[in-house]
Amino acid sequence: MSELIRVDRDRLWGDLMRLAQIGAYDDVPTGLRGVRRLALTDEDAQARRQVIEWMREAGLVVRIDRIGNVYGRRAGTDDSLPCVLMGSHIDTVTSGGAFDGTLGVLGGIEVVRALNDRGLSTLRPIEVGFFTEEEGVRFGVDMLGSAVTAGRLALEYAHKLTDDEGASVADELIRTGFDGQEAERRPVPFAYIECHIEQGPILAAAGVDVGVVTGVQGISWQRLVLRGAAAHAGTTPIEHRQDAGVAAAAVILELRRMCESGRFGQLRGTVGKLSIEPGSTNVVPSGATMTIDMRNPDDVAMMAAEAALAAFVAELPGKYGVTGSLERMAKTFTVRFDADVRALIAATADDLGLPYVHAMSGAGHDAQEIAAICPTAMIFVAGENGGISHTPREYSNPTACGNGADLLANSIFRLAQASRLAQAS
Ligand SMILES: [Zn+2]
Repeated sequence: MSELIRVDRDRLWGDLMRLAQIGAYDDVPTGLRGVRRLALTDEDAQARRQVIEWMREAGLVVRIDRIGNVYGRRAGTDDSLPCVLMGSHIDTVTSGGAFDGTLGVLGGIEVVRALNDRGLSTLRPIEVGFFTEEEGVRFGVDMLGSAVTAGRLALEYAHKLTDDEGASVADELIRTGFDGQEAERRPVPFAYIECHIEQGPILAAAGVDVGVVTGVQGISWQRLVLRGAAAHAGTTPIEHRQDAGVAAAAVILELRRMCESGRFGQLRGTVGKLSIEPGSTNVVPSGATMTIDMRNPDDVAMMAAEAALAAFVAELPGKYGVTGSLERMAKTFTVRFDADVRALIAATADDLGLPYVHAMSGAGHDAQEIAAICPTAMIFVAGENGGISHTPREYSNPTACGNGADLLANSIFRLAQASRLAQAS
């Protein structure tokens, strides 16, 4: 066992807190300071520039690709070898916290500093990256940058996506100065490790700070557009109505029933976005548009759930006089992470004396995309308050973050010294 690397926890914590100032806002429901840094907004661009500055200060050579993904590179003693990559994302949801994504990016930079401080060189180059629009909140497709890099989505498709105001990804990349020149299909890494907060309760319940992630459950995003007919709220008899609002409510409740039925495995369904037209107090709604987010660790059960939902939507005209059309927004299948990289992380946690559990991710991550091009796994870091995330209540304490970064540092260092993957662990 080689000497163990320890990151500077205070330095990492300071960076996490500093980055959280960019896009900070007062969250009324919680009374806390939150982070709102949607992809390719001015706030995101400012955060990107800050992270790039920290990358350069750590001696990394920075490049930007055509979908705006940013990589910082530390040369290896044999720089022709495929690199070891770590990273995550720095965009947030509208009501985000300080840790989601940023821990993997700032933790990665801290790993490089820890190697620099000790004068440690590595056989392989090491890169830290962050991917564009991981959250999918602004342009409607999550893991966008990593999916393009991995080849699942075409660059042209990604560039044409628009936000609610009609601004395209391509235009926003140019406007913010992140329309890089590097090919979006990056050189294939030797391996990728993403350190990320768990965003769930498993680690805290087990009393551990870190977890070895076995994989990511499948995600299905659909948009449902309902069409009824507007009518007077006072004069139109109930039986004559084609009320799109009532149909929307029925779909939301049906989704909940499906989740509770047990017929679709561990299905989790959410309608997080709903708008009703024309949106007047005294008018029966003529239309409704909603998003349907389904998660499932079992791809077969997910397919069955999608079919059941489609069948329910097909019955809406007979029940409510409302037609519905489902449109696919995004779909990813369950991903299992690389056994060798997982074993390496587990062995490294043992060497560090860090207790851990194995856990499947309930949330989507860039790692599930990068897993398509190279051996990949993730490190989870426990969160407080039940691991709650996508809210300013999201919180991982400095010890948990430091332990996660230590595990990342030593795992990455071992990979970067290995000529073959099986050797690393
Ligand atoms: Zn994230």
